Amino acid sequence: MIVMIRPDVSPEKIEHLIKWLRDKKLIVKEFHGQQQCVLGLIGNTKCIDKDMLKSLDIVESVADMPETFKASNRKMHPEDSILRLVSGNGPAIGGGNFALIAGPCSVESRSQLIGIAQEVKAAGANFLRGGAFKPRTSPYDFQGMGSEGIDLLLEARAETGLPIVTELMYLQNLDLFIEKGIDVIQIGARNTQNYDLLKELGRCTKAPILLKRGLAGTIKELLMSAEYIMANGNENVILCERGIRTYEQDYTRNTLDLSAVPVLKSLTHLPVIVDPSHSTGRSDLVPSMTLAAIAAGADGIIVEVHNDPANALCDGAQSLTPEAFAALSAKIDKLREALA
Ligand code: PEP
Ligand code: MN
Repeated sequence: MIVMIRPDVSPEKIEHLIKWLRDKKLIVKEFHGQQQCVLGLIGNTKCIDKDMLKSLDIVESVADMPETFKASNRKMHPEDSILRLVSGNGPAIGGGNFALIAGPCSVESRSQLIGIAQEVKAAGANFLRGGAFKPRTSPYDFQGMGSEGIDLLLEARAETGLPIVTELMYLQNLDLFIEKGIDVIQIGARNTQNYDLLKELGRCTKAPILLKRGLAGTIKELLMSAEYIMANGNENVILCERGIRTYEQDYTRNTLDLSAVPVLKSLTHLPVIVDPSHSTGRSDLVPSMTLAAIAAGADGIIVEVHNDPANALCDGAQSLTPEAFAALSAKIDKLREALA
């Protein structure tokens, strides 16, 4: 349920109403906008008399919220959320703060990672990506460097100042990620509906969680997965459209659903980013799809960059060279300027 408070009501009166609602065992989310305060009520809202609430002199209106996603719902928080890193340093994400996340699919060695990190930083990236634990379709393929890869990411962060984004695959590694201060924890498409993992990410950290859309996940399922994290205490979720399975299999790896961007932006206040690499599987399609995603309203891009794509241990075909990334980054700047 959404309760709009009249403008110019004193904070004491709002606090009094919030306390009364919390005493009824409701979760109350407060949004304080420039003009007005909005209270979002989650829980058994049937226990309150809507007409009585409406009749209060401080209340402007009361509306039901039929959607099953609550904490992520834009009705609760009409403005875009702006997420910050746990350290408080580094770039914010959302609400006009664009995240340009670039780096290799997998961390392969110190020289590979640090070299790419320096090049993407020089080209304008503000986050470094790199997988240390890799979900591979075949158990015979390179599975990632594991915790050694995490240490290399930390070295690359120290070297360049770029905050790091890396994938957490299983619960047992969550402590390691927290202890090492991973800036943004990625949950991959294969784990989007691993609800136990999502609950723990809600309980144990406030680090932003980059949540990818499931391989065949609907938009609502993605929002419900975000809800698992938020309902358990971590409101810092970034949604990522990374392509979905359709009947196309000859020419693109997945089908990039760009319409998900404006749909999500209208439904939720969370930042929405796009992964043009996994959604297409082809480096030649990455530039055009990146620009299209930005035109569609994406708050950021996560893109794979490799110094030697032909010999990459994972996802070389979809990886840009650092030079191609620099050219794309310049176009991104121009497009964002034109759209501003
Ligand atoms: C990745 O980012 O390298 C990755 C494995 O992504 P996804 O979960 O979208 O397949
Ligand atoms: Mn990859």
